[in-house]
Amino acid sequence: MECVFCRIVQGKARAQVLHEDEHCVAFQDIAPQAPVHVLIVPRRHIPHTLALREGGDEALMGHLVQVANRLARKLGVADRGFRLVINTNAEAGQTVFHLHVHLLAGRPMHWPPG
Ligand code: 5GP
Ligand code: ZN
Repeated sequence: MECVFCRIVQGKARAQVLHEDEHCVAFQDIAPQAPVHVLIVPRRHIPHTLALREGGDEALMGHLVQVANRLARKLGVADRGFRLVINTNAEAGQTVFHLHVHLLAGRPMHWPPG
């Protein structure tokens, strides 16, 4: 099994898990870029957003955003603000090719992003 996030989803690699359900797992990023840095990952191996199925994966993506909302509230950053980031392919900085939503919060975010 090559994919590190598949390994985490299947419980074969360690992570600090904050949420799991039948569709996704959310865990702390190993190299946090903000006081709150959580990755929300579908259980299914989807390499990136370009591999999402049209007319099939819309509910999954909506679910990932709802889980992000729930975690932001639980972690006390919803009202202050938070940023959701999805990197697709190399120039965007994607390094793990298993779709994930970054939930970043706990410090002021800059715009435009780097
Ligand atoms: P990307 O650059 O692909 O959007 O983000 C990948 C993220 O996964 C990075 O923020 C990186 O720190 C995180 N990451 C990479 N390997 C691991 C790991 O084994 N465990 C955890 N918890 N996070 C990881
Ligand atoms: Zn995977």
